[in-house]
Amino acid sequence: MAEKEKCFMCGSTEEEVVLIYARKGGSFFWVCVRCLPILIHG
Ligand SMILES: [Zn+2]
Repeated sequence: MAEKEKCFMCGSTEEEVVLIYARKGGSFFWVCVRCLPILIHG
């Protein structure tokens, strides 16, 4: 993968937080566990 993985919301890298690979509407993105609750609760 060419681009460095980082959270699409806060920009944290995998060295700082746990990142989860997710998809929505046919596009893929990385989100960290700190931003995931925000994403879940809208
Ligand atoms: Zn984040």
